[in-house]
Amino acid sequence: MRRERLTIVQVGEPVLRQRARALTADEIRSREIRQLIAKMRQTMHDAPGVGLAAPQIGLPLQLAVIEDREEYLEDIAQEHLTERERRPVPFHVLINPTIREVPGKSVEFYEGCLSLAGFTALVPRARSVRVECLDEHGKRKSIEASGWYARILQHEIEHLHGRLYIDRMHSHTFASLDNFNRFWKGKPIDEVRSALNRTRQNPG
Ligand code: ZN
Repeated sequence: MRRERLTIVQVGEPVLRQRARALTADEIRSREIRQLIAKMRQTMHDAPGVGLAAPQIGLPLQLAVIEDREEYLEDIAQEHLTERERRPVPFHVLINPTIREVPGKSVEFYEGCLSLAGFTALVPRARSVRVECLDEHGKRKSIEASGWYARILQHEIEHLHGRLYIDRMHSHTFASLDNFNRFWKGKPIDEVRSALNRTRQNPG
């Protein structure tokens, strides 16, 4: 089988800041959209990433794919997974989604984006969300999620509204991945936060 790979556009491309349009019922049933979903799935795996929204491949459509594979979690310390409430999520498709945050404390973790390749930052987000959407067959679907899966949902659905994690990150934590790995990786978030806050209060 031929591997279909799409190009992931990078920050600065206008499409990433556009509000994506909803898909019609006819479009959802179309061959083009079925093929597009298959290509997006392949592109997400190849990246590799746990989510990919259509604007990231240059299409302003309300369509995203998500999958957090068991194999991605294998080399991550259990403590890290537990803190983030990260568990495998099977492949699925979000079409025309709406999202509501479940009231409660927000949680802060480093996250990245395939459209901001090589960077990461600490991003506060709701711990739990409710999503209403259509699946790839046009069937209505409700999702209740918390932990890392809720973070992925928020991240991908924000792409459909022209928003990126840099709009809500703690900007003083923004780092290249190289420097993140050098200075901050594996440290408890509280320690990172207090170290960076100290730095911020001592300019010069
Ligand atoms: Zn992203």
